[in-house]
Amino acid sequence: MTILAVSISAGTPEQVRQRIEQAVQEGAGAIELRTDFLQPLEPSVVSELVHVAHSKKIPAIVTCRDSAQGGAGNWPEEKRIDILEAALDAGVSFVDCEFSRYVLNSVRSRLRLALQRNPKARLILSAHDFSGPFEDLTGLYESIVTVCPEAIPKLVYTARHINDCFEGLDLLHNSDRDAIVLAMGEAGMITRILTAKAGGFLTFACLSHQEATAPGQATAERMKKLYRWDQINNQTQIYGILGNPVAHSLSPAIYNDCFESAGLNALYLPFLLEGGQSEFETFMHQILSRPWLHVRGLSVTLPHKTHALEFTHRKGSFLDNLPESIGAVNTLKIGFNGLVSGYNTDCAGAIDALTETLGIGRHGLHNRRAAVIGAGGAGRAVAAGLTEAGARVTIYNRTLRKAQSLAREFRCQAASLEEIKNTDAEILINCTSIGMHPHTDSSPVPPEIWGPDKVAFDTVYNPLKTRFLQEAQAAGAQLVTGAEMFIRQAAAQYRLLVGAEPDEKQIRRIVLDCLTKD
Ligand code: NAP
Repeated sequence: MTILAVSISAGTPEQVRQRIEQAVQEGAGAIELRTDFLQPLEPSVVSELVHVAHSKKIPAIVTCRDSAQGGAGNWPEEKRIDILEAALDAGVSFVDCEFSRYVLNSVRSRLRLALQRNPKARLILSAHDFSGPFEDLTGLYESIVTVCPEAIPKLVYTARHINDCFEGLDLLHNSDRDAIVLAMGEAGMITRILTAKAGGFLTFACLSHQEATAPGQATAERMKKLYRWDQINNQTQIYGILGNPVAHSLSPAIYNDCFESAGLNALYLPFLLEGGQSEFETFMHQILSRPWLHVRGLSVTLPHKTHALEFTHRKGSFLDNLPESIGAVNTLKIGFNGLVSGYNTDCAGAIDALTETLGIGRHGLHNRRAAVIGAGGAGRAVAAGLTEAGARVTIYNRTLRKAQSLAREFRCQAASLEEIKNTDAEILINCTSIGMHPHTDSSPVPPEIWGPDKVAFDTVYNPLKTRFLQEAQAAGAQLVTGAEMFIRQAAAQYRLLVGAEPDEKQIRRIVLDCLTKD
């Protein structure tokens, strides 16, 4: 099982003692003492901290990182080796030395002698590249295990793109020895978790973001609570959200909580995918060509819904009619045979939110006058659903040309956004991003438009009550929130991807908790 090691970079011995206690309480499997951050840095202080870890029965890794490899303090080499020697003599479980220093006779001979005095300890030989992936990752790994076959190679590089993660995961998956391979940066974050599926020896987490020792490191609490660290094994089924940005997506919290309650061996991750069609296709190839990753389904968000449609068209096995007419896929299901099917749950989510909040069936939308504001992905999904239900739709958009083109497709009316003040629609649906956090004081319509005979539906769900909805409420209009749409589209998507019935109340609770916390 992959060890979750909490990296401790506190500056004083007293702070380090507190962090060791905290790491133990948070269920860490090991601690890394980044002694290069310590002041004062003395062998006796490090020995004492190793004894503290020992008394708490938690394995410790002692590192005194070279500043050339991202270390703090700029300590001379002699001193750094003194520290590792002292840690070994104090009975530490692991010491980490930079491979580029270990190849020097002066360093190697001292460490070998100290390791002989503490034969239970293991040596981690590490290399870091903060600028990008290593030129020859496998070659470097081979060099380390050739020079010191009993060492644990540790290779850490920066992922410039999520597609840089797979080489590192492959190396772990194919390795027949204990090894650590991780990618830094937000794009590399998934390697810190998927290492548990690839058979990595260890991953690192921090106690707080301020104390992270590498870019992209998550907190131990997040690894355990959000990413179900203790449940992951090589059979865990992987799901995730593909988008840019994805850091604030509510989906990981929803899915992982539902997996936990259902007792499923499954994990949902945020996949930050930068770029366009080409990067999208490369990512899909990366996951589909690695069946051992068990990626079973993806939620797709901005800007990749059209890329997912194009991909499903050309390489998928099944494309539902709805995403074809909406022009966007937000759900990709991946079968055990690697075949991909594309769906869209935004449309059903929007129409169900509207009809259920109004207490009507879909037929109740027949002949109702509706204004769809916006002609992007959400506008398309809502216009498709409303016109199918027989509503009389006008699409209002800042770029009139886009509204007109959409109106031709769905056989409805188009107008420019300025015309909205003259609308006679009873149901007004904001499908633009106007009013979304952090620009919460704007609305796409003037407040005079509202009255008690109107229905205001905002697809924006952050904040929960947008200015559009607040002004409508003040005039006595009926409200439908973006959260209602989000909850329903998420439940529909869960059903498709996981093939099980989600608890909609649970999804609602998580969505509302997350949105009210922000
Ligand atoms: P999109 O494809 O990028 O379309 C954005 C739309 O907003 C376009 O019509 C654009 O007009 C318009 N727009 C953006 N900024 C504007 C501004 N300053 N003034 C006037 N119009 C502006 O985005 P999308 O996927 O449709 O998403 C739109 C919103 O729907 C987002 O806020 C998203 O959160 C929400 N959404 C919610 C759910 C849910 O489950 N509740 C699901 C999907 C989407 P132009 O064509 O002129 O650029």
